[in-house]
Amino acid sequence: SSIPKIVILGAGYGGVLTSLRLQKELNYNEADVTLVNKHDYHYITTHLHMPAAGTDHPDNARVSISKLIDEFKIDFVKSTVVQIRPQDRKVILEDGTLSYDYLVIALGGESETFGIPGLAENAFTIRSINSVRLIREHIEYQFARYKREPHRTDYLTFVIGGAGFTGIEFVGELADRIPDLCRQFDVDPSLVKVINIEAAPTALPGFDPELVEYAMNVLQKKGITFRIGTAIKECTPDGVIVGEGEEIKAQTVIWTGGVRGNRLIEEAGFETMRGRVKVDELLRAPGHENVFVLGDNSLMINPEGRPYPPTAQMAMQQGVNCAHNLVAAIRNQSPKPFAFSNKGTVASLGKGEAIGIAFGKKYKGRVAAWLKKLIDLRYLFIIGGIPLVLRKGKFL
Ligand code: FAD
Ligand code: NAD
Repeated sequence: SSIPKIVILGAGYGGVLTSLRLQKELNYNEADVTLVNKHDYHYITTHLHMPAAGTDHPDNARVSISKLIDEFKIDFVKSTVVQIRPQDRKVILEDGTLSYDYLVIALGGESETFGIPGLAENAFTIRSINSVRLIREHIEYQFARYKREPHRTDYLTFVIGGAGFTGIEFVGELADRIPDLCRQFDVDPSLVKVINIEAAPTALPGFDPELVEYAMNVLQKKGITFRIGTAIKECTPDGVIVGEGEEIKAQTVIWTGGVRGNRLIEEAGFETMRGRVKVDELLRAPGHENVFVLGDNSLMINPEGRPYPPTAQMAMQQGVNCAHNLVAAIRNQSPKPFAFSNKGTVASLGKGEAIGIAFGKKYKGRVAAWLKKLIDLRYLFIIGGIPLVLRKGKFL
């Protein structure tokens, strides 16, 4: 019989962990494994708020895939997936076709705009190296423009839509960056406005209220203005419309209002909720025994009956489980159901400040910031060992 073909779509947290585990556990010639990714690098999404604000270089948030995987064991294909055809067991790439026996879909999320008019056209999102490079350059350009047209204070107004973890981590960095930009462009800091707009009655809805209050105090002291309980209704080239029609003029709107799954998945005919596949306990799409769906593309319900938030932590654990079960399937062994083990949540508020809950304990301030660094270093260690920690770790 021929060797089973495994195709992994996406080299994010889920795809990389699946690949690394497979290359470790599979014996020679037990399976043909192909990893497909749009870029020849893996990006560390959890670091993207820093290059977006310009407090770090984008290169520190990416690692070349050839440095992570063993290309003797895994075929890496740099290409963009354009269609998934489960009925034919094929994946169509922009420049070719792959057939598979087992498919792992880990293409990551897309920005969710909830159909709010103008957002897709006029707002930036923090999603990839390309998207954060654009934000960083755009912000600098606004300072330069302002110096030529000093009546345009809207050049110096920065609106962030959504105070979830992405929005909060980003404004923490931006607050650190603004004083540097003001010095560089001779701009009076009191003219710069960073406005974080949140529809829910609180920032970080659902998170520990004491830590949320701490975070808001830290960020307000750094100059962030919060508009809580205020929904963005529309985004235009001139700014946003909020609440009952109030306009906030801004040449920069960054949308951090939510994520959904990948469009390719619903287009493939899988049943989805906000673009995510509700997977079974073996992380498979219902009705497709050979299709595994991981990370931001998957939907899992927690014991309280609510969906788990899509996180890197979740995607990584799913990757490990998926690799294990692929090996089991190939060897005709029984699979292991997936169980999420929540290690906690730690979020940065800029240099030296953070909040978090880890192992059932609350942390804030410098200790939490250290914890965040430790988590980032641990990830580098998991995917690239000591060499990667030494190469990239010093920048974190
Ligand atoms: P991703 O990591 O998004 O990877 C998807 C991959 O697929 C990418 O490499 C992409 O290039 C590729 N791809 C996409 N489309 C195609 C295509 N058509 N063809 C080929 N390749 C394609 N979570 C945490 O747990 N802790 C944190 O501290 C944390 N911080 C975050 C900070 C920020 C600023 C953001 C935005 C998110 C953060 N998250 C965090 C959430 C976390 O990043 C995501 O849940 C995680 O990245 C999901 O992993 P994934 O493998 O599903 O997809
Ligand atoms: P999110 O969905 O968690 O937060 C989006 C926020 O935008 C919500 O608070 C929502 O109420 C608000 N919002 C939605 N529509 C709005 C509107 N019209 N006007 C104003 N506000 C609006 O999205 P996220 O912050 O990008 O996070 C995505 C996932 O990544 C989450 O699971 C999160 O836990 C994870 N994440 C984790 C970390 C970390 O652990 N440090 C950091 C970033 C992201």
